[in-house]
Amino acid sequence: MRKTAICILGIIIILILIVVSNIGRFSFEKESALTPVNSGWQYRAGDSPIDKNGKFSWFYDNNNALWKDFSVHSHPNINNSNSYLWERVKLPKQNYRDPSIYFYTKKQDFQVFMDGERIYSFGNLNNKKLQGSFWHTIDLPNIYGGKVIYIRMHSIDKGALGEIINFEVGSKADEIVNIIMWDFLNFTMALLFVVIGIISLFVSFIRLRGKQLFIYASLCCICAGIWLISMGSMNQMFIYAPEFWGYIKMISGYSIPITFGLFINKLFNSKFSKMFNIIVVFHMLLLVVSLLGDFFNVMGMTATLPVYFFSFSLSTIMVMIVIIKNYSKHDVEVKIFSLGFIALCFSGIFDGFNWAFNPNHTQSYLTQWGMIIFLISLCIVVNLHYAKAKDDAIKYEKKLIESQQQLKFFSNISHELRTPLNSILSSLQLLNISIPDDSIKINGKDASDYFDVMRLNSFRLLKLVNNLIDINKIDAGYLKADFQNKDIVSVVEDITQSIANYIKSKGISIIFDTDVEEKVMACDIEKIERIMLNLLSNAVKFSKEGGEIYVEIHDADTEVVITVADTGIGIMADKLNDIFKRFVQVDKSFTRSHEGSGIGLSLVKELVEMHGGNIAVESEYGRGSKFMITLPVKQAENDTLNENMKIMEIEDIHNEKINIEFSDI
Ligand code: ADP
Repeated sequence: MRKTAICILGIIIILILIVVSNIGRFSFEKESALTPVNSGWQYRAGDSPIDKNGKFSWFYDNNNALWKDFSVHSHPNINNSNSYLWERVKLPKQNYRDPSIYFYTKKQDFQVFMDGERIYSFGNLNNKKLQGSFWHTIDLPNIYGGKVIYIRMHSIDKGALGEIINFEVGSKADEIVNIIMWDFLNFTMALLFVVIGIISLFVSFIRLRGKQLFIYASLCCICAGIWLISMGSMNQMFIYAPEFWGYIKMISGYSIPITFGLFINKLFNSKFSKMFNIIVVFHMLLLVVSLLGDFFNVMGMTATLPVYFFSFSLSTIMVMIVIIKNYSKHDVEVKIFSLGFIALCFSGIFDGFNWAFNPNHTQSYLTQWGMIIFLISLCIVVNLHYAKAKDDAIKYEKKLIESQQQLKFFSNISHELRTPLNSILSSLQLLNISIPDDSIKINGKDASDYFDVMRLNSFRLLKLVNNLIDINKIDAGYLKADFQNKDIVSVVEDITQSIANYIKSKGISIIFDTDVEEKVMACDIEKIERIMLNLLSNAVKFSKEGGEIYVEIHDADTEVVITVADTGIGIMADKLNDIFKRFVQVDKSFTRSHEGSGIGLSLVKELVEMHGGNIAVESEYGRGSKFMITLPVKQAENDTLNENMKIMEIEDIHNEKINIEFSDI
């Protein structure tokens, strides 16, 4: 709800800005104390002759007949576009505080003279490059009424030569306000675009991990904003650098179709990538050509503009067609976005054509309205998206709570299972001790045989329950390693030795080998034991009589590699990646003859990773498997536990652990 309110507020602010800026323009033009000087303009083509004092003789106006009349908004009739043009106009007689004239010129260098003195100059009159379009405010001496202003102009663009707009006289403060109001809407829109673009660029990098779709959209938004700033007249208030703004205008303008092409391409999941690639590459080329042409003075920076306008309009029409054709296939968000975008395209194309083909086009553009509609559509889309994301978050939270409850239930059940199992096992142990062998026979079999079956299956259950508890603990983040500085070689060797007899009794030989006598490093003995027993029990489980198991330790200085290899049934190549996943058993038919749950290896992997190491497997189906554990050699800092106590404890629980781990063979 709050977001909706913010969006609506945003839209209202935009609308107020439009209204205020337009009222402002209207009222300042009507009410401010400015006097338009639109009549009595005259011009002369070519440069003025200079008298012997170095003064321009046309100031003295000897030959009145040569001056031709024209109005401020029209072009003078000249043949040579690259020559000088003189204009003159008589100033009115009103009195103003801080009197000044203000006017707008298009792409031309000029100097302003009064009473034979130069009072203002813009650009370098020999410049081969065009200046930008600018507002100028020029201070006047206090006594100016009835005097004549002479303007000496130079331009390489015939279309722009002699064009002076809004030539007015008034107080300087009024004029500056007027300039600001003139460009206010454009400037606010531009800033809005840049700010929205930068924010969404940050969001795309930080929150959406650099999702390309949003990055391109943000870049396009920023380019459009910069282009609007460079197009407007307010930019001169920040940096007075016409050439700089010329380049900025060119680069940002050409970047709009480039970034937009990339964005729309992503939006349509690269379905029309060929078309969009052409649009992008073509505009890139155009930009490079016009920049290089300008750099080497081959052609003016604006020479490629007609091609640009044409190709831009064409690509926009193409994009519009694609959007309209796919309109029904999209969800509401894309539909609203498309509507806003079509409004923007349409207004842009209209302005482009109006600008190019209508010589009497006005200064106000439709594109600004298109942009407002586009921004409103964006606000609505963001709002809808937010509402959807909120729903998803609520659903996700519910699921999370459910799964947490399940996890807790699971953990409780596992613990509850362990208690009765332990009491069964201890009762069995008691029975085994108290009933002598061969004293009780059931169906001709010794009772202890039945006890053994019960014991084995209890261990099997215990293994499963233990694994489940550990996996649960890992998921919940409770299972932590207790690192002690221990000789890893003897730890691994001891475990291997302790089960060597059992393995041999299965008709399988086990060979232990190491290339280092001692390697003291930080490890959690209990976890290493779990890892080794798990791998060894698998090796036994999947080996046939006569097989061989190798346990090797290799010291690689900063790492220790422990290898458990067997000559058993092996694992199929396409299954190798899966065996470390939870509950994965490869060969169901085979494994079923051995018990298992598919948790063992996933637990092993987690335990190895707890040590900062990794586990890899190599296997040849039918020939055997090789598991390699690489552990980094580190030293534990607070190795405080009493050595003897720890060993005793380990000895005590050792046998039971072996019984458990090997129960499913
Ligand atoms: P399980 O409890 O089923 O043994 P594990 O996670 O320990 O679960 O092993 C997963 C699967 O990986 C086993 O079912 C088996 O298919 C395969 N596997 C593990 N170790 C070996 C091995 N040494 N030789 C052949 N296959 C193995």
